[in-house]
Amino acid sequence: LGGSISRALQNMSNSTVIDEAVFHDCLNEINRALLQADVQFELIRNMHANIKNIVNLDGLAAGHSKRKIIQQAVFDELCKMLDPTTGIKSSSFFFPKKGKTSVVMFVGLQGSGKTTTCTKYAHYYQKKGLKPGLVCADTFRAGAFDQLKQNATKAKIPFYGSYMESDPVKIAVEGVERFKEENCDLIILDTSGRHKQEAALFEEMRQLSEATKPDLVIFVMDSSIGQAAFGQAQAFKQSVAVGAVIITKMDGHAKGGGSLSAVAATKSHVIFLGTGEHMDEFEVFEVRPFVRRLLGMGDLSGLMDRIHKAVPVDQQAELHQKLSEGNFTLRIMYDQFHSLLKMGPINEVFSMLPGFSAELMPKGREKESQMKVKRYMTMMDSMTNEELDSSSPKLMNESRMMRIARGSGYQVREVLEMVEEYKRLANIWKRFKMPKGNMSALSPQI
Ligand code: GDP
Ligand code: MG
Repeated sequence: LGGSISRALQNMSNSTVIDEAVFHDCLNEINRALLQADVQFELIRNMHANIKNIVNLDGLAAGHSKRKIIQQAVFDELCKMLDPTTGIKSSSFFFPKKGKTSVVMFVGLQGSGKTTTCTKYAHYYQKKGLKPGLVCADTFRAGAFDQLKQNATKAKIPFYGSYMESDPVKIAVEGVERFKEENCDLIILDTSGRHKQEAALFEEMRQLSEATKPDLVIFVMDSSIGQAAFGQAQAFKQSVAVGAVIITKMDGHAKGGGSLSAVAATKSHVIFLGTGEHMDEFEVFEVRPFVRRLLGMGDLSGLMDRIHKAVPVDQQAELHQKLSEGNFTLRIMYDQFHSLLKMGPINEVFSMLPGFSAELMPKGREKESQMKVKRYMTMMDSMTNEELDSSSPKLMNESRMMRIARGSGYQVREVLEMVEEYKRLANIWKRFKMPKGNMSALSPQI
């Protein structure tokens, strides 16, 4: 999907004059790409109509500005299709809260990543101070309980399941009861996702949902399923009230185009992305970086542009070389922080990186965030060159962390937080390897 759309935009960029025909071709190509990805025809038609309305070709100057406006319109429409704030009232969003017991049920086909994602989701909210509990209601797959148990144990999350009981509804009800008694804030239900016996699967989901009355049902989808997304999501939506979507395996080659279909089929929204097999390879979904990626527009192009302006010319080639190798070291993070602090409104720059704006730079708390960046830099000043230039934070064992904390006058906890931040960033940058060559020759920027 992403490929054809960016190709369409590319074709458009290559023609010097943008007239009605080019515009038409471009939209047709985008439509075809979206249809191929099983996005609801109605949504595509709306997008088409909206873009035609927005882009008034006659009223525009020739060349550059027209191209930009069409690109912007396509980008905006895709954002709108995925944006949780359009269509559904944001007040109806469900968020687990401390002090209130919520039940969240995960559904999806076998292998989509439910069991893995359940634990990530629990871990995410546990870090925010909620008390989660995991219930394994998958009695179909051999070893399902063991898998959940292993994950839960690693994350120190209470779990419930049975090796003997074969009725998933019974386990689910018991598990929910148990965790309610234990005053859990967030009770998470992992379910089965068998292939083949699909009628039986959907009936099981319906029964589970009826018995446990979940506050939210999350549909988990593998990003690589592509065209099958719409049918799959719709099938689940018909048996349970899917209220949110999580796309997994975004660390692979798939750009996640199927998410448009899943969102359309379930009339819900994407809330998180899975970006790896590990517990913290999990990101809050952000529309704009996601669409940029979908369209094949490097997320970092805008950021690179700014770094370009701030980093001394003689250091640019080196930085770019490092980034194109995909090795994001602590020193790169340090240099980057340094440049960013120099560049003024820091939140604007940070907001270009997925994961950054929501977590490192919450809106309205820019001052605080800036202090945090400075604090991190002070800690890094106490590190050895070897540590700064390694792309493996394994070098830093506990005693090194204590030394760094002492050296910089901070708590070990704070050093740990900085290292976590580094890991998160390294993970993101790994996914957006820079093309080699001139920094300014990066993909079109929106
Ligand atoms: P389930 O059958 O839906 O419960 O799926 P699992 O949670 O068992 O996941 C199936 C496989 O996908 C496992 O090998 C997971 O480690 C892997 N997996 C899950 N999420 C991700 C992800 O975001 N990225 C990658 N690379 N692998 C994932
Ligand atoms: Mg499973």
